[in-house]
Amino acid sequence: MRYCDPFRAAGRPETTDHDFLLTCSCGLEQRLDEMTIDEAGPMTLYDCARCTKSVVGVLADDPALAETPEPQGMARWGESAGHKLRGYVIGSRVDVAFRPADADADLLRLPATPYFFKRYLDL
Ligand SMILES: [Zn+2]
Repeated sequence: MRYCDPFRAAGRPETTDHDFLLTCSCGLEQRLDEMTIDEAGPMTLYDCARCTKSVVGVLADDPALAETPEPQGMARWGESAGHKLRGYVIGSRVDVAFRPADADADLLRLPATPYFFKRYLDL
């Protein structure tokens, strides 16, 4: 499973992880295909190439999957805990830009989902 999969499923079959760009909290700008991929669990994790922190994740949107219950009083939990798209859930600690190498500007900006790792991994 890759971050680009829901975009390929949504009608852009040419999309690859190279089309996504982010800046880790440590300051390193990198494309997703330059990150370290960890596929040991149900969620594919993308770790920063420099500080090794898990910054991005993608998993199948499976209703049977265990989720941490919504904490009491936490506003906008749902939308802050991942973007659901074409049978996948994607999330990240920082904004992810959809910017293919030949694009002059971001085609799309996927806002950070600060509760994503908490919700699905309880991290
Ligand atoms: Zn980093």
